[in-house]
Amino acid sequence: MLMTSLSKKITGYMCVFCGESIDSGGLDITSLVLITNWDGPEDRQQSQQFFAHFECLAKSFRPEVSRELDHLREEQND
Ligand SMILES: [Zn+2]
Repeated sequence: MLMTSLSKKITGYMCVFCGESIDSGGLDITSLVLITNWDGPEDRQQSQQFFAHFECLAKSFRPEVSRELDHLREEQND
């Protein structure tokens, strides 16, 4: 279950990487959904949603992983 109800109550968004506020625009606001026990039974899984600047997220990933985000930038420019 995604915590969509949480996002509806939020009046501002803080980037989990840089701590700055996130303005809506471009690929932001970017949401991260954390799911624990991914390979376990669903009743043992928990989820939590976080927010970030897309580019802060991209910089935090290892370069070879960050390249996998390139298609998201390209699709936005279409
Ligand atoms: Zn940031």
